This record gives sequence, structure tokens and C-alpha cells, in this order.
Amino acid sequence: MLKISQTAKLPLEICKGSYKDRISLAKELNSKFFDEINKKFTQKTISYDLFEKTLKDSTPANIDISVQPFDKKGGVTCVGFDQDQDIAGYLIRIEKRPMMDGLGILDTEVALHETMHYFSSLTNPKHNAKTLKMITSGTIAKTEKFYRDNLYTRNEFNKENTQKALSEFLKQLNTEEQIDFLQSSRYRLIEEYNAYDEGYKYLDKIQDSHPELICEKIYAREKEDFHFPEIIEIITDKLKEIFANRHNLK
Ligand SMILES: [Zn+2]
Repeated sequence: MLKISQTAKLPLEICKGSYKDRISLAKELNSKFFDEINKKFTQKTISYDLFEKTLKDSTPANIDISVQPFDKKGGVTCVGFDQDQDIAGYLIRIEKRPMMDGLGILDTEVALHETMHYFSSLTNPKHNAKTLKMITSGTIAKTEKFYRDNLYTRNEFNKENTQKALSEFLKQLNTEEQIDFLQSSRYRLIEEYNAYDEGYKYLDKIQDSHPELICEKIYAREKEDFHFPEIIEIITDKLKEIFANRHNLK
């Protein structure tokens, strides 16, 4: 049986309610974390250790979280697994800028995007359980390329083409795999949508709060290129269709 350890989720008394409530809680935690990290910027950079410690201190439970810089492009949040394939904790990897010693004030965009993923994971253990199930069953291996190429992508969007490609792709999965894939894709896209918003918002805020540490204000990546709401709608329609068909078969 797959399990999510106590060090990877919030206690029930803190974390409950609908999906909407849980997203609000994740945003609230990210906002509190921002207030703390904002105070730590007395110069243009802070150490990754200080970032990690502040994140730990801003999490209302004893969570296993570590932050690691790396050299290649793009930031990713990974869920860590222990030996029994249970979820034990989290790892946030943030791209290190060349020539820079620590996390820069302008990295706030990526950093607060990733911490939003972290808080979303903490407040939605069900999503982690589903991801874990999909990894062990091999569904992730079968679907990840499609997800990257067709759903979570900046490629030009055409509703009909995406609908067609999705219907075609789903034919190679059984009904359970189809439902897992669609539900988890929907969660992931909603979480990306929120994470981009958070990165944008806090890059703006931190620069306004430290005009002495920046030269000229910059703005974050726009999330519109991804067409999140349109693609989420396509997935939701598909799920409705599958559930309706399943109902009719009974
Ligand atoms: Zn993301």
C-alpha cells in the first residue's frame, strides 16, 4: 500500500475542506512565507540554506523539505520517496544563475512559483497519492510525453486539434488509466496556473519593497501562452464524457 509519511503532509486539523479551501490555504502559506523571505533580503542575494530554513520555519508542521540549487535551465519541485516507495518529503530544485552566489532577489519569480507547488502538495495529499500510483503502475511513463507536448505547453493552441489529439491518445489507455491521467493532468495544470500567478505577483512585490536592491524593475513570465483555462476545460469535458459512458454501460 502506498503511503504518505507524516513528514510530507499537514496535520488534519490544519488542512481540511474542499479543493478550493486547500488552494486558498496553500496561497495563504505562500504569502506568509513571502513576508518572511522578503525581510531576509538585506542584499541582492541570500544563501540557499537561509531560503530552506525560512521555508521550514514558515511551514506549520515538521515537514521534510530541502532546497537545492542546480546549473541547468528551469526549476522543478520533486516529491521525494523513501525506500518503501512512500512519499517522505520534498525537494525543491532552483536554477543557479551563473556568477551568482546564492538566490538572487530576481529569482523570487521562480522561487515563489516552486514554493507554491510545495504548499499545494502539502495541502493536497490526495494528488501526491495519485501521482505515486501513476508512477508505480507505469501510467506516468506512458503519458508524460503527451502531457508535455500537448497539455502543458506554450505551443500554439487550437481547441479542435487538442481535443482530437487527446481523444486519439486516450485510445491506448484503459478506462482507469484514462481517468487517472485526466484527473492528475487537471490538478497539475490548475497548480501551474496558480504557481505562475504567485511567481508574477511576488516578483513584483519584492522589487517594490526593495527599490534600493534593483536597477530597473522587471516583470515575470506571462502564463497566458499556456492556455491553461482552455486546456483544463477540454480535460474536464473529456472526464464528463468518460463518466457518462461508464454510467451508461452499467
Ligand atoms: Zn511549475
